[in-house]
Amino acid sequence: METIKEFKDIFEKVKAATRLSVEDGNRLIRSKNLVELGAMANFVKKRLHGGRIHFTHSLNVNHSNICVLSCKFCAWAKTKKHPEAYALTVDEIERL
Ligand code: SF4
Repeated sequence: METIKEFKDIFEKVKAATRLSVEDGNRLIRSKNLVELGAMANFVKKRLHGGRIHFTHSLNVNHSNICVLSCKFCAWAKTKKHPEAYALTVDEIERL
């Protein structure tokens, strides 16, 4: 893969399925070279899963939007008396 230049030494380990060192990890996590990081990640993904793509579906139930704090950046929380305030019951959460 000609696109790997900065991390050529690490990519050799990746191709050989050799465990990376702590120093390798530190270099990768500090890098802003997302093109090479992505290319190496895609190489491993293809080796493990071929062309298959997997998706995750999750549900995050916000059981209440009532909050006693008033963080200035928050556009979500409501006071208890606000007309859009809600607090779901356990039964309502289970239905969701
Ligand atoms: S961010 Fe919003 S919901 Fe979170 S503590 Fe602040 S006001 Fe409450």
